[in-house]
Parts: sequence; C-alpha cells; structure tokens
Amino acid sequence: MTTKDSMDKVVSLCKRRGFVFQGSEIYGGLKGTWDLGPLGVALNNNIKREWWKMFVEDREDMYGLDAAILMNAKTWEASGHTGAGFCDPLVEDTETGERYRADHLLKDNGIEADGLTLEQIDSLIFDTGVKSPKGNPLSKARQFNMMFETRIGAVAGPEGLVYLRPETAQGIFVNFKNVVDSMAPKIPFGIAQIGKAFRNEIAPREFLFRVREFEQMEIEYFVKESEWKERFELLRQDLWKWFDHLGLNRANVQEYDVPANDLAHYSKRTIDFEYNFPGKGFDELAGFAYRTDHDLKSHMNASGQSMEYIEPDGARFIPHVLEPSFGVGRAFTAVLCEAYTEDEMGGEVRAFLKLPKHLAPYRVAVSPLLKNKPELVEKAREVFKLLKKEFGNVAWDDNGNIGKRYRRQDEIGTPACIVIDFETLGQEKPELGDTVTVRDRDTGEQTRVAIAELVNYLK
Ligand code: ATP
Repeated sequence: MTTKDSMDKVVSLCKRRGFVFQGSEIYGGLKGTWDLGPLGVALNNNIKREWWKMFVEDREDMYGLDAAILMNAKTWEASGHTGAGFCDPLVEDTETGERYRADHLLKDNGIEADGLTLEQIDSLIFDTGVKSPKGNPLSKARQFNMMFETRIGAVAGPEGLVYLRPETAQGIFVNFKNVVDSMAPKIPFGIAQIGKAFRNEIAPREFLFRVREFEQMEIEYFVKESEWKERFELLRQDLWKWFDHLGLNRANVQEYDVPANDLAHYSKRTIDFEYNFPGKGFDELAGFAYRTDHDLKSHMNASGQSMEYIEPDGARFIPHVLEPSFGVGRAFTAVLCEAYTEDEMGGEVRAFLKLPKHLAPYRVAVSPLLKNKPELVEKAREVFKLLKKEFGNVAWDDNGNIGKRYRRQDEIGTPACIVIDFETLGQEKPELGDTVTVRDRDTGEQTRVAIAELVNYLK
C-alpha cells in the first residue's frame, strides 16, 4: 500500500524526520526556498555522488567541471536568457496584486495553455472569464524574466549588473575551449557539472518540484552532426539506467517527445522524462535535448573566440550538442515518493522508506539492546566502529525501546538494524557469542550473523 493520491505524507515525513525544512522558517519562511536537514543532505549527496559516478567516473568520454555561479553578463545575452526566451507569462490579481503564472492558472482551470502569445492568453482569459484564485479580475498578461539580478561591488551603475545563473549549462559552453585545449578529448565526449541554479519562478509550488533555488546535474555531450541520432539513442538508454538506479519503477517514468511545434527554435528533438508524482501525475523530471550547434555558435559569434573542434587530420567543425539535464530536487522528490510505503507489521500500519541501499541516508543502524548496561554498550560501540570504518554512514541509535528504534529507522529508510544483546556477549547461549541480530527493513525478518561476517553479509 503506497500513497498514490498525494505527496502530503512524504512532505510531512520529510519535516518530522529531518529531511527538508522550509527555508528561513523562524522568520516565516521565504517562498520557493527549502533547507535540507541532516538526512536530506545525506540523501541529496548520495544522489549527486551516484550520478557523478555513473556519468563521469565510470565512463571514459566524460569530463567534470565546476564553473562559477556568477558569470559575465554577456554570457546571458549570447544564450538568449536576457531576452523573451527566458520569460514566463505573468498575470496579477487586480485587487491584491498577487502574481500568477498565466499558463498554469489557465491549466488549473482545465484550459490548455502551452506556447501561447500574450495576446492569446489575454483573449482566452477574457473569453473564459477565468479569475484569480481569490476570485478577482486579472490584469493583462506580460512577460516576466526569471533571472535574478545582483550587482558586483567594484562598479557603480548598470555595468555592475550580473545574474545568478539560471542553469549550469552555460558554464559548460563557455569552458568548451578550455576543456578541449587542456584535456584533448576525442569526439564524441561530454562535459558534466553539478551545481546550483536560480530562477525567479512566479509561483513556486509542489514542494521541491518548482523552487527558486535548486541544483542541476547537466551534461553537454559534443558530437559530429552526422552522428547525433545514434548518440541520442545511446544516451537515452543511459538515462533509463539512471532512473533504474534511483529505484524508480519504470511504470512511473515516461518519455514525452516534445512535438515539433513546441520545440525551442534551435532544438531538433527534445524528450522530457516525466515521473508520476503522487497527486500531480506525470511531470518533468529531466530534459534531454538535441540543441544542434546553436550554443557554441552563439558564444563564438558573441565572444569572437573560435569554438571549433580540430580533428587529428586537421578537419575543423563546430560540434553539435546533446543535453541531458536533471534537477536534483526533482530526483530527490521522485525517489522519496517511490520509496514511501505503508504496510502492516505486528498488527499495526507502518510507514517506511524503501530506499535503495546506495541512496539511504544511513546504510545501517547499530543499537545496544539496553543503553544502561555498560557491557552491551561497549560491545555495540565496537560493532559500530567496525561498520563505520567500512560504510561511513552508520547510525548509532539507543533512543527508546527496540520497537521504537526500528520504527524510526524504517521511516528514514535505513536498510538494516543491528542489535547487540546478551547473547552477543555469550552470556546466555555460548554458541551465539559474538553474533548479532540483523533486522531487515522491508521484511522485518531477523537473522543471527557473526560479527566477523557482518560486513560481507551487509554488502
Ligand atoms: P519546467 O518546464 O518544469 O519549468 P524547464 O523545462 O524549464 O522545467 P529546464 O530548463 O529543462 O526545465 O531545466 C532542466 C531541469 O532542471 C528540469 O528538468 C528540472 O528537473 C530542473 N528544474 C528546472 N526548473 C526548476 C525549478 N524551478 N525547481 C526545481 N527544479 C527545476
């Protein structure tokens, strides 16, 4: 039994158990920002580490990068982000001044609104009589640019204007030449980056799904134009492997092939990978686009620097680009929604996170049966140290009784709990000396395992 109708249970578990807190909560919060708690940062880091391992370390054709968040403002002119291309249509409640994303508002009223011009939005609102959620008339629609502006200190006036990057991708394009010159990669190759991005979303909503500050994991994969189709297919399979690795059921992931008339002008093909978020339905988890040579060409024209790749035989060309782009927060949310499970154990309903072992915040928890018996605590500390050396993310849990500890560890997705009892000390049945109880999160089954075998057993 899982929660299919809403994300509410996952959201409340996240708060209760230290995964995600509202940003700046003690001051009433700051909309569109969230803070990761002790367990959230662990899960988030695990997702990023596994992604980096799969897409960078385990491959020979990928290079890592970590570019600055603040970039020369000319970057965003060349990429088109300062223009209308990076705007969302905005309407205001004429009484309260509250702002809404016009296309989302229309959609919420059952009206299809993708790719409409401002005039089309205005006439749809007029014809259908759609009002603000507060029931008041709406203003005319206008374009709202989503980039956050800030100023650098050394220059007064407009020259100091810079932006918080709205995507990590441009940091990759502006370093294309640097990576080629320093690493001499053979085409096809990719440059991968994980980092923060900022978008001044008009209406942040749905937990981590649409926020103003988030993390992306992006790859720009450079190919010869003649090979784009075959490389697109190969990468597409790799993307599916990634979603499997996140533990997402394939029935909950689907591809949406963006129709030709909705494609960005430079893209010849884009697939959105969508996840079936509870209570929301299928929506974008990651994007995968063939962007032609648009980006490198734009930067070449704007900067005057060559973006050509030179083959060993001297042939020169501007590579074409395939871009898989993942949001970490959306992956985080999908992983939690997928993992959240309710079943019955010991006659009671139990909620637990069926997280894959490589993503769980704690790989294993160690407990002494009783925390006021020094000989149990001492032995348990020994086992704890042994496992900590091996796995790193091991929890020490001696709060409350064993039943409560199991419930807590189930709820945060710890795959196994280990209990040190009097039998471990060899006090009751000498043949069980130096063995511990290992309890499985998913089945609740308990197995007696020798301490010397523990690491192998858990692996
Ligand atoms: P959407 O249509 O949902 O606004 P997008 O198509 O603008 O998304 P991209 O520009 O393709 O998104 O960004 C790549 C990825 O970055 C998305 O697939 C998503 O996972 C993530 N992402 C984009 N905007 C946000 C946001 N405001 N909050 C959280 N994640 C985001």
